[in-house]
Amino acid sequence: MSGFDGELRRELEAIRKGGLHRELRRVDSPQSPQIEIAGRTFLNFSSNDYLGLSNHPALKEAAIKAVEKFGAGAGASRLISGSLAPHHELEETLAAFKGTEASISFSTGYAAALGAITAIVGKNDIVILDKLVHASIVDAARLSGATLRIFAHNDSVDLEEKLLWAGNLPPVPGKAPKRILVVTESVFSMGGDLASLRGIADLKDKYGAWLMVDEAHATGLFGAHRRGLIEEFDVAGRVEVQLGTLGKACGAAGGYICGSRALIDLLVNRARSFIFSTAPVPAAAAAARAGIEVIQSAEGEVLRQHLWSVVDHLKSALIEAGWALSPIRSAIVPLLIGKEEQATAIAAALRERGVFVPAIRYPTVARGKARLRLTATAAHTISDVAALVNALTSTKALN
Ligand SMILES: *Cc1c(COP(=O)(O)O)cnc(C)c1O
Repeated sequence: MSGFDGELRRELEAIRKGGLHRELRRVDSPQSPQIEIAGRTFLNFSSNDYLGLSNHPALKEAAIKAVEKFGAGAGASRLISGSLAPHHELEETLAAFKGTEASISFSTGYAAALGAITAIVGKNDIVILDKLVHASIVDAARLSGATLRIFAHNDSVDLEEKLLWAGNLPPVPGKAPKRILVVTESVFSMGGDLASLRGIADLKDKYGAWLMVDEAHATGLFGAHRRGLIEEFDVAGRVEVQLGTLGKACGAAGGYICGSRALIDLLVNRARSFIFSTAPVPAAAAAARAGIEVIQSAEGEVLRQHLWSVVDHLKSALIEAGWALSPIRSAIVPLLIGKEEQATAIAAALRERGVFVPAIRYPTVARGKARLRLTATAAHTISDVAALVNALTSTKALN
């Protein structure tokens, strides 16, 4: 045992030396603009609860009712006896919300990516990923056994080169023709920038590839019905696989795939993270469904408009304070710092001032591209924004 721990401690020491050590902080309050850590209240600009739904009465009530009617646990996987009414209701609501034929839910977005990609492509196929896609997609693509290619971030010229290369590969005798799957996020999780979905859809059509889009940071925020960036850019009919999480703007937990009936039926039969895993607790499915219902309602539009006003105030105050920011509007506002140690030091100084903002470092972003990732939510007020910018300004003066 001591040899084992000794080895691991050496690895931990190396992580610390690189300024990359992480640790958990226990939060003793619900997720909201004010969170409590170690007896102290912090102004929180770190959560992905973009519409403030995680603590919304309708979601809490849906969860409580589901517990009362269906118990705490699902008791089995979906294909055994765990496919409870709340799971089916969630999936019907999701498909109607996204305007697709069908949908399937998973216990997390990570599990959805893992299950879907490995079910759709295999050893004989090619997966082409944007350089900045989420770890769940990278892991899934690797696990699928497909040949992996990365295109430069949001770069259509480079994507076309990769598609040309894939299209020119000779067919393997006796094997089905190679499938080509392109995967991108719509709103990028660490930069807050938007994928050029129309250009990407044009290319995938031109080369006969399939397209999968991860709407984790766009669902609830973009599009006339708040479905996501696919709706905003009007490409729904050209995206074969829509992926998302129920843990961010939807306010609960879980992941989903939306698409054709054939896609969903195949995933029920083949997605290993769906098949070999206990069904999500009924409370999570019921809360997620209630979250989607709020997003679809008039209240959802009010929340989105308030979120954009928080974002706009935040960005103009930051620009006035001398930060260089992208003009793109999303709920994610990254402040590029560069060095890992410096980002960590600024985050620590902000905590001293009662402000909680995460320093995002390698391996979440590239080395030397450490940043403070500010996330605005509909639960923030304009005075929360002022307090954040004040704290940032006084912290920056010290650096
Ligand atoms: C959070 C996230 C996921 C994973 O979703 P979870 O439900 O948290 O597992 C997938 N893709 C992106 C881009 C994400 O930000």
